[in-house]
Formats: sequence, structure tokens, C-alpha cells
Amino acid sequence: MVYTVKEIDDNWMDPDFKFFVNRGAPKKCMEFLMQNKNMKDEYLGACLDYIRWGGQETVMYELGTKGIINFIQQWMNLNENNLIWNEKAHSKNFSLSYIKLDKCPRDENHNRTIKDLSGRVRCAHKSEKGLKPSFVRSFNYFDKNSQVCVVNYWEDEPTDNLPDCAWDENTGKLLEDYEKEWEKYEEQMKKFKEEKPTFIFEDICYSILSDEKVVLSLEEVLDRLNLEPRTKTVYCRDRFSLCKRVDELKKSDKEAYKLTRRCPGHEEENNQTIHPFSGWKLTWYVQKWYEQFVDKQVLVFKK
Ligand SMILES: [Zn+2]
Ligand SMILES: [Zn+2]
Repeated sequence: MVYTVKEIDDNWMDPDFKFFVNRGAPKKCMEFLMQNKNMKDEYLGACLDYIRWGGQETVMYELGTKGIINFIQQWMNLNENNLIWNEKAHSKNFSLSYIKLDKCPRDENHNRTIKDLSGRVRCAHKSEKGLKPSFVRSFNYFDKNSQVCVVNYWEDEPTDNLPDCAWDENTGKLLEDYEKEWEKYEEQMKKFKEEKPTFIFEDICYSILSDEKVVLSLEEVLDRLNLEPRTKTVYCRDRFSLCKRVDELKKSDKEAYKLTRRCPGHEEENNQTIHPFSGWKLTWYVQKWYEQFVDKQVLVFKK
């Protein structure tokens, strides 16, 4: 999914920040700020900028999204009655990163739209497909364009299940099993040709075109600005060695592991986040997130 992220080239670190002289490795800085009331009466911008690694064009935190949220919440708790976000105010037209698309990402010829209950504008293109009921199969998947789990149906044509040819090594004749399988196959082919496509599957596209009117959680706001993937694959030692966490594997991976005896990798939260701007600017987004809520009932994690 492509969000519109405003890149800001102005980048500054504050030498007046009261802990600046003691600045050591970013991880140490972070541990220090998380202690006691060290972040009380400090700008969130200064605090976030104090704990980052700086590169030429990007800024890296040794914290995953959850870690940054935890850090921000600690700051918010300490400064509950005096949320001083930033030294400089953001510009008037500064906004969060929303999905803003002119055309449906699945097919640019789709042109009907609807608004869902949360205020997202979605594609309402409808298509109908008739399938032969005896050959219908289904699978679930997470659709990136609509950001929902959908069920898709397809037709399992017998032509894809042609029996393997097999001869007796000694006599050179076809194996009896093979002949039986071939008969079965021909029966299925006949059935497939004669059956009418009476299973009607109605597919509505639902791809998101805009979510500008939607209240975003802090988790979503941060994820959309993060240039790193949210999770990463880690191996017990490397991808050719034994797995020490077999119990945690999902069923299909467990089955595969019995044969391969190689760690298939484990999906874990990435403990690094990267942004194309300083902590001060990241704070503008956090402030903008907070300003979505009039009653202080903030939404931190994605529903
Ligand atoms: Zn569409
Ligand atoms: Zn493993």
C-alpha cells in the first residue's frame, strides 16, 4: 500500500536539550530517558530526537513500533497536563499520511465507489462468476488493497489432475492402477464438460481509495511513516540448521520440517524503525494523531 508521506528535508538536532552534553549511544539515551521523570517538562520532539541514530537521509530507532509507542506513552503520562510536543509548530496544512488514490489499485477501469461505516471510500465494482459446483474450491487470503480477509473461489479443472503415466519395468506394459486412474480421470472430465456453472460467486472489489476521513490509531500513524517492514524473519541459527522452536511452528511448517530438518524461520516484530526525517518531525505526526481526539480517549493500537 502506498501512503502519501510528506518528506521534509529540514533536519535539526537540538544542542540546547538539557541532556545533550551527556549524549552517548542512542540505546543508552533511550534507557536514560525512560527512567524516573527524566522526560517531564521536555519536548517530545527533543526526546525522540535524542534517542535516534542519524544517517544521511534517514533516522533509525532501535525500537520497533511497539517500543516507540511505549516511549511516547511514558512521555504522555509524565506530561499529562502539559503536553509540549514541539518547539516549532507544524504548518497549517500538515496532515497525517492517508491513502489517497484516484483510481482503483486493482483495476483502473473500476469506477463505482461506496463509503464504509468508518468513512473509508472503497471501490464498489461488482463482478459475477459462474462456477461448476462439483469442482468449486475456495481459499482465504488477506487482501492488501481492501485490507480485509476475503474468500476466493476457483474451479479445480480435472485437466490439472492428469494421472502420472507408469509402466511395469519388466513387462513394459501399463500398470493396472494407472488404467483405473485414467478411467476415473475420464469420468471426471466428462462430468466437468457436462456440468452447468450454477454456483454464482459475486465478487465486490472493496479496494480502499481514500481513508482521509478515518480516525487513525497511533500504531497505524507510525507504521505508515516507517520505512522498515513491521516484522522480520529470524532463523534459529541459519536457514540450513536445525530448528529449536519446532513447537511454535504452524502445522504446514511442522510437516515440512520433518522432511527438511531445516529451520523455516520465525516471524518476529522488527525491533528497528526507520524514518526519512528527525524525531522533531516525527513528533508533528504524533501530535496530529493526538489532535484527532477531542475527549482524550485516544486510539493507540489498530482495532
Ligand atoms: Zn476496484
Ligand atoms: Zn527455528
